[in-house]
Amino acid sequence: MNPDLTRASAAELADALSRKEVSASEVTSAHLDRIAHVDGAVHAFLHVDAAGALAAARAVDGRRARGEDLDLLAGVPVAVKDVVVTKGLPTTAGSRILQGWVPPYDATLVTLLRRAGMPILGKTNMDEFAMGSSTEHSAYGPSRNPWDLERIPGGSGGGSAAAVASFQAPLAIGTDTGGSIRQPAAVTGTVGAKPTYGGVSRYGLIALASSLDQAGPCARSVLDTALLHSVIAGHDVMDSTSIDAPVPPVVAAARRGDVEGLTIGVVRQLGGEGYQAGVRQRFEEAVALLVDSGAAVVEVDCPSFDYALAAYYLILPSEASSNLARFDAMRYGLRVSPPGVEDPSAEQVMAATREAGFGSEVKRRIILGTYALSSGYYDAYYGQAQKVRALIARDFTAAFQRADVLVSPTAPTTAFRIGEKLDDPMAMYLNDVATIPANLAGVPGLSLPSGLAPEDGLPTGIQVLAPAMRDERLYAVGSALERRLLERWGGPLLAGAPALGRDAPARETAPAAREG
Ligand code: GLN
Repeated sequence: MNPDLTRASAAELADALSRKEVSASEVTSAHLDRIAHVDGAVHAFLHVDAAGALAAARAVDGRRARGEDLDLLAGVPVAVKDVVVTKGLPTTAGSRILQGWVPPYDATLVTLLRRAGMPILGKTNMDEFAMGSSTEHSAYGPSRNPWDLERIPGGSGGGSAAAVASFQAPLAIGTDTGGSIRQPAAVTGTVGAKPTYGGVSRYGLIALASSLDQAGPCARSVLDTALLHSVIAGHDVMDSTSIDAPVPPVVAAARRGDVEGLTIGVVRQLGGEGYQAGVRQRFEEAVALLVDSGAAVVEVDCPSFDYALAAYYLILPSEASSNLARFDAMRYGLRVSPPGVEDPSAEQVMAATREAGFGSEVKRRIILGTYALSSGYYDAYYGQAQKVRALIARDFTAAFQRADVLVSPTAPTTAFRIGEKLDDPMAMYLNDVATIPANLAGVPGLSLPSGLAPEDGLPTGIQVLAPAMRDERLYAVGSALERRLLERWGGPLLAGAPALGRDAPARETAPAAREG
């Protein structure tokens, strides 16, 4: 194992921990040191919980010393996206309206992480309420891409991806409503998976669009992603949409990693025009490697995917406008009195608070959603979008009759520059054109690095999609492909990321929301 503990994979750390070659305290301290050293420049974290992480690590070390039976990942630290509630740890969802809020309970997935003995390093930055593809909509300023600090790390879960890519955490939790785990993975050269809808409990996730939201794992390898997936997945009575079935055998599939005899479907609608040349090139090379590894490849047609983005931007704002109604200044976080009003009504306080507490992207979507759901327009917009959603599910069903998994580039371009798309919502939305269909249909997806685009030297990603509850196929195919790509590159891509050398300068700009 690499003597620098922050460079080791979660699987390597787990092995070393179980052999007592290192302690959980040492592993956790190494990552906290790394955070102190580089996160001034990267800004992956909104809140670092050094004391809590070290206490959890010491507890695991104690249990191991007593010979207790421990979970595989016991002692391996993890970062958690700030949209997931954590008891006693600030949770803002990247919004001003929740600044200073400390949840009184843990999300189910956080309970599972704690029970597995995984120290929680802190909470990661994100676009406000998970709306965005760059973290630029965070009320606390953007995270930066470790490949080039002037570029975005994707979004909304850019903080989790940047934390993993800059070796501040071996593992991180993300959430994916339209691509927020997969697109950040693609543009940072990391791996991320959106499990089947209902595969991981949504209890304690601050809801964006409840019918689309899904939490999942972020890591630097396919196996590490599977290991974290298996910790957080499973049925939960606290989430009525949680699936009551055994967790798909994702770890075994990742360890096996093979495509022999599988049919891979290349989705015609997710590629071609609008995709950067180098993204397309690396994607085609990856498909060729899959063929060389024994897979058959067919082209599949999913005509309704052309309308996925449009349908998503009606369904998501509709659900979001309803979900965000709970931020009413009475129950959580911020409360603003309207200036100059002597004895303001509850409605006036609500309006002033929401005006001050929400950013412009959140307001845009609340307005869009309220409009789409209004009685005069319901059928024309929301109703139509739901019909498109049914057609997309039908396209998936047909495609999975011809292919075991589907593949496409994860994102149409490599990481763009901070500021480049901020004033053009449509350009920002287009980042998720390839990831959104999976959310609309509830099927699982995984992104892994497919190489650096020749024209800009930045990471590209390939997305693998599988039928619902067949998450193990993502890992079997992803791991087989990863093995072939590592041979070709002569080692992990991230080892060559320029802006995150171990001596990256710590910038002195502590983000406003940073505490503890
Ligand atoms: N970028 C997409 C959006 O802005 C996806 C967000 C997400 O997956 N949370 O809605």
